[in-house]
Amino acid sequence: MNCSFCKQESIYFRNYEGHHYCEIHFVKNIEKRVKKTISTNKLIEKGDRIAVAHSGGKDSSNVLYLLNKIFSDNPNIELFAITIDEGIKGYRDKSVKKSESFCKKLGVKQHVFSFKKEFGFTIDQLSKKLKSGYCGSCGILKRYLLNKKARELGATKLATGHTLDDECQSIIMNVLRGDLLRFVRIGPMPLLAMHQKFVPRIKPLVLIPENESELFALVNNIPFHPKGCPYAVDNVLRGEVEEFLNNLEKCSPGIRYSLYESAHKIVTFVRKKFKTGKISTCEKCGEPSSRSVCKVCELIEKLSS
Ligand code: SF4
Ligand code: ZN
Ligand code: ZN
Repeated sequence: MNCSFCKQESIYFRNYEGHHYCEIHFVKNIEKRVKKTISTNKLIEKGDRIAVAHSGGKDSSNVLYLLNKIFSDNPNIELFAITIDEGIKGYRDKSVKKSESFCKKLGVKQHVFSFKKEFGFTIDQLSKKLKSGYCGSCGILKRYLLNKKARELGATKLATGHTLDDECQSIIMNVLRGDLLRFVRIGPMPLLAMHQKFVPRIKPLVLIPENESELFALVNNIPFHPKGCPYAVDNVLRGEVEEFLNNLEKCSPGIRYSLYESAHKIVTFVRKKFKTGKISTCEKCGEPSSRSVCKVCELIEKLSS
């Protein structure tokens, strides 16, 4: 099959759109879509200092690669990477190495922080103490640390590699849990509750499906560490929702975009009706928290008792 836009051989058929893409047109299309997401939503502005949460996986590597490609010649935008080492032997140690060599190759400054040093324990140790829920706890600890370190390093935005698939999974999971506060956080620049210590998050890949993100990394020779955290099985619901959405997409191509658009309409309506409230401060660590003691401090206390 030939590309729908030139005579070259097609490497990808986008079934929700009906077009074939050669390597060149596929790459151009992804770059154009990411640039459009950034400009339409004003994700990055003059004077921004962007911290990219870089794990070494395909999505965060694509974000780093694309932002570096778009802004490296712009003297008004600064870019650096933050990598979190949760302490997962045989998995994260390898992806951290991949991440370090990619940052070096791009010439992007990288800061690595570990759970062990910051919290006093690794996820390997936590998983032995907690019988379940360690994947969820890992997510909470990681978001906390990313926000704290990004702020301390003077970042004005924190860019993450969330794709359309991640976003759709979160939409379904938050509906199932009835979690309105998290539900309204979807979109390229989620509206966080007001707190001066929050660094605004941006998701440049929010309209890129995960399979296209993977193909983009492959055709651009972007090195990435494959998925496969041994503790992901702990998050049963996300795995089930992922499979459910993948099956839906197979019989109804484009359903992820429909779901995202519908949720976006609801969120826009809800945001107009209810102003996002202020959030308080954890009395132990001083970080933003909806409770008097944040979940991270609670977890640390639980583990030390
Ligand atoms: Fe942490 Fe869960 Fe991600 Fe593994 S899958 S790194 S445990 S959040
Ligand atoms: Zn082409
Ligand atoms: Zn706290």
